[in-house]
Amino acid sequence: MGWLIPRLLAAVAAVAAGALIGMLVGNASHWPALGALLGAALAALIYGFVDAWRAHRFMNWLRRQMEGSAPRDAGFWGEVGYRVERTVRTLERRVDTESARLDQFLDAIEASPNGVLLLDAGDQIVWCNSVAADHFGLHPQRDRQQPITNLVRAPAFVAYLQSGDFADPVSVAGPGSRGTVLLAVRPYGDGNKLMLSQDVTERERNDAMRRDFVANVSHEIRTPLTVLTGFIETMGNLPLTEVERRRVLELMSQQTQRMQTLVGDLLTLAQLEGSPRPASDRWVAVHKLMAQVRADAEVLSAGRHTMGFSGGDTTQVAGAEAELLSALANLVNNAVRYTPSGGTVDVSWSLRPDGAGELEVRDSGIGIAREHLPRLTERFYRVDGSRSRDTGGTGLGLSIVKHVAQRHGGELEMRSEPGRGSSFKLIFPAARVRQVDTPADSRRSIDRVGAE
Ligand code: ADP
Repeated sequence: MGWLIPRLLAAVAAVAAGALIGMLVGNASHWPALGALLGAALAALIYGFVDAWRAHRFMNWLRRQMEGSAPRDAGFWGEVGYRVERTVRTLERRVDTESARLDQFLDAIEASPNGVLLLDAGDQIVWCNSVAADHFGLHPQRDRQQPITNLVRAPAFVAYLQSGDFADPVSVAGPGSRGTVLLAVRPYGDGNKLMLSQDVTERERNDAMRRDFVANVSHEIRTPLTVLTGFIETMGNLPLTEVERRRVLELMSQQTQRMQTLVGDLLTLAQLEGSPRPASDRWVAVHKLMAQVRADAEVLSAGRHTMGFSGGDTTQVAGAEAELLSALANLVNNAVRYTPSGGTVDVSWSLRPDGAGELEVRDSGIGIAREHLPRLTERFYRVDGSRSRDTGGTGLGLSIVKHVAQRHGGELEMRSEPGRGSSFKLIFPAARVRQVDTPADSRRSIDRVGAE
């Protein structure tokens, strides 16, 4: 009430001053009492007018959303303006701080790799980050206040939301062909819900691939094992002639060899996947790789093919020799196995204009239909299963080659035409290719292997 007394005193003082002046003026006309009355009334009127004017200015300032400073009046209205303005500014600062904190909080949720979506008690969208919007095909701003079941209609999702049982997460299909989204709901507050989502497409694909892989490996190993078991029973139960016994042992040896090759390829793949990328300062001579592969290829071909090896005499590639050898051997091995007698197999090295190197294995063999090409590097993918197995294939060769190429920063290019042959190219980036001056040592080694 501290403001009331000065205000009353000021009003009383104004009226008293008006009365006094009125009385002095009225005295002159011998009507001092009337003069005092009129003076007091006039003073009250003026005081009321000034007060109303100040109140009006203050109201205007309030109406203008308290823009700028409050009117700087003396007295009551000045005090009211000052106090209101100070309170408003303090509140504004507090709101600014809180909204900066909220922005920071929302930014943090926005940065989350998972989707976050808030629903009110009526399952209307209150807020969602862009990851959740992407998972459910929503618009983060436009779809606010929309019932989520109007926008996400996947039956599994609607049933989950309506069940009210959120103990376990649920998988739902993403919008379009966007794969699978795993979502969990956590109720909070007064019927509100926090929805967390995660894209598990990749994880599911990996799980499926792992399951397929285990199934494939089991199948590949079980087949020779079944054959071996049969032979073992035969040898145990039947009296065999010496010729039959030799034949059975030979077949058993073939099956064992098949399992050994398979396990070898599996170990190679595991090693490729589990070890760091090959060093980029270990240089391997291309002609040396060719020489080593050539020896094995000639044994495999047994003179049935015309083979040519060219280029790479003065070139080195940076990487792991064992891996490069395994990749090239797989390609050459395939070329020989999938090329009928009388065909050609050519291995050549050349440099591309941009400095990248290309190691090509070309054959005139059976070729591969276009639709198979994108899947050839999948593990255990075969165009013709029985031909692959009959020639000792595991279905893992090209998968190994692709891994090796990628680990060396390169790639595997394939071209093929049924009945006309195939070309497989290992491309190495320029940074992993260099020229050297003296091919002498290597030449000798190639010639020696070629002559053997
Ligand atoms: P595999 O051990 O069966 O040869 P790969 O992974 O090396 O397995 O090759 C996958 C498939 O690609 C083979 O089964 C074969 O059908 C096909 N293929 C690979 N190389 C050639 C080639 N040079 N000519 C024709 N087909 C090939």
